[in-house]
Amino acid sequence: MNPLLSPFDTAPFSKIKNEHFKPAFLQSIEEARAEIDAITENTDAPTFENTIEALEFSGQQLDRISSVFFNLNSAETNEEIQKIAQEISPLLSEFGNDITLNEALFKRVKAVYDQKDNLELTVEQNTLLDKKYKSFSRNGANLSEDKKKRLREIDAKLAKLKLTFGENVLAETNKYQLHLTDESDLDGLPEGAKEAAAQLATSKGKEDGWLITLDYPSYIPFMKYAKNRALRKELSLAFGSKGFHNDELDNQENVLEIAKLRFERANLLGYKTHADFVLEERMAETPEKVHSFLNELLEKAKPAAEREFKQLEDFAKKLDGIDRLEKWDSSYYSEKLKQELFNLDDEKLKPYFKLENVINGVFKVAENLFDLQFEEVNDIEKYHEEVKTFKVYDADKNFISLFYADFHPRAGKRGGAWMTSFKSQWKRNGENVRPHISNVCNFTPSTKSKPSLLTFIEVTTLFHEFGHGLHGMLANTTYPSLSGTSVFWDFVELPSQVLENWCYEKEALELFAKHYETGETIPMELVEKIKESATFQEGIQTLRQLSFGLLDMSWHGIDPTNITNVKTHEDEAFKDTSLYPDTPETCMSTAFSHIFQGGYSSGYYSYKWAEVLDADAFAYFKEEGIFNKEVATKFKDHVLSQGGTENPMVLYKRFRGAEPKVEALLERAGLLTS
Ligand SMILES: [Zn+2]
Repeated sequence: MNPLLSPFDTAPFSKIKNEHFKPAFLQSIEEARAEIDAITENTDAPTFENTIEALEFSGQQLDRISSVFFNLNSAETNEEIQKIAQEISPLLSEFGNDITLNEALFKRVKAVYDQKDNLELTVEQNTLLDKKYKSFSRNGANLSEDKKKRLREIDAKLAKLKLTFGENVLAETNKYQLHLTDESDLDGLPEGAKEAAAQLATSKGKEDGWLITLDYPSYIPFMKYAKNRALRKELSLAFGSKGFHNDELDNQENVLEIAKLRFERANLLGYKTHADFVLEERMAETPEKVHSFLNELLEKAKPAAEREFKQLEDFAKKLDGIDRLEKWDSSYYSEKLKQELFNLDDEKLKPYFKLENVINGVFKVAENLFDLQFEEVNDIEKYHEEVKTFKVYDADKNFISLFYADFHPRAGKRGGAWMTSFKSQWKRNGENVRPHISNVCNFTPSTKSKPSLLTFIEVTTLFHEFGHGLHGMLANTTYPSLSGTSVFWDFVELPSQVLENWCYEKEALELFAKHYETGETIPMELVEKIKESATFQEGIQTLRQLSFGLLDMSWHGIDPTNITNVKTHEDEAFKDTSLYPDTPETCMSTAFSHIFQGGYSSGYYSYKWAEVLDADAFAYFKEEGIFNKEVATKFKDHVLSQGGTENPMVLYKRFRGAEPKVEALLERAGLLTS
């Protein structure tokens, strides 16, 4: 018996073997197809219930199996699982395409959509109907046959171009090596970075010396610490000119073609630009709004950025007689200046952040804010012995959620930290089905002599992922596809980022930041230093983020038909945000994988957008007290529990009483001109 195919609540990890996955996928895809057929073959007239709701609750078994499988592929994978993923992924996307291209199904969905004003639907039902309808219309379901054909052509071309773009960036990254044989060329690098460079040289078959590459773990420390300015320049130019060498790996034509095809696709579907198409399903809504958002921040951050740049110039001049600060000087002198100003060392902080204390701290914060209780349990199956399992209850002992926590690195776990779920939340037939939420991280493990002690960044990461976790745990919606973190992209980081703010507050730190040996609470001057150093060069950083957002919009928020020169176009987009002298050898767009390969096109602004939201939301807590129950309850009722059931701006205003303003972020970031 395949344990994945018999109904289960908590995932039955001990019974699941790798060979169970493929047959389970195949069978549940078939069952999901049968459920779709049942909808299209229904002879009754289309209604919200027999079409939209039926579609929403189809394929549930497939969803459960997929979440178990793909969560394992991230947190506890092996070659066999990866091989299954390679086989299964095309089947799943084929199944997804078969749904969005199913004309009989679209006909029924459209029939319901066309009469939506007469159906007396709830707000959530309306949102669901809209979402389902758009999943077809945004893929061309309303187009004439010849236009549909063109859309498919464009999609196929774009898929190929994106792949080529990414392959070129990767090949360019791998092609470059800086082989150093004179140890003095590594002056300034910490021992760990030097060792890594020597190891890299050995592993790449070099007989001696050190190897520096364009991979971040190698590139970043070198730019930050290497004294040799000429080598920093060489490396920086190599990094900045990926895909820009007029050779077979050049990406200029790919960039132009991607931008133009996206524009054409948007036009076909009736949108003015690609950005109009993307932003229809974002909180920001329109390119105009994104532009005014970016420009407002730019205007306010620029004076601070210029001040900070002047300070950095003076510092470099004083230290090394540098006359003209260049791009390859920025990390190096910034790091030196930061050390001089703050001298803040992770080792000083870590003893106050024993992992168990931090976990109890974040639970305590959740208890103070939302009356949640966390009870560790041992009767739930887990995929690895290191995973901890908790049952989460509300104040009346009602079961709210299951919470898996998996904190330390292992072979088989990918890097980074994330929140995910093994089961989402929904309501059906009078039952509120509660979710199974998981946080996976890669924190410093314990050693023989010391418990796991977290760096401050790890502490904020834990709070961040737990914030996403709360969004999942407190979900209280009817439809699973609108539940928890299933919200517009530029709204999803609000719960996670807002929770990070508690890490900087005395009242919260006193709950858990206690020295693991002495029990002493973290001294406030250390906390002040953390806060100050967190806003170091905030103006420069903001300008940098804005420049990427503006470049993104410059490609996607206009008609790109007449753009012929990538570099000229880019220079124009950067003109208000650049602090350093230009380098004609480099080009950002030809390696900007976020927007030309990944899913961030017309979405880069959302990093700053999310910061504005979280700062504005937390300002409300600060005004009323960071553990104020009334504010917390509003946050729970209007944001955390609502998922994507309504337009996020409406939800936000219901919580905050007004639209978010940039001022709170400017104040927190120290960007307000005094
Ligand atoms: Zn996040």
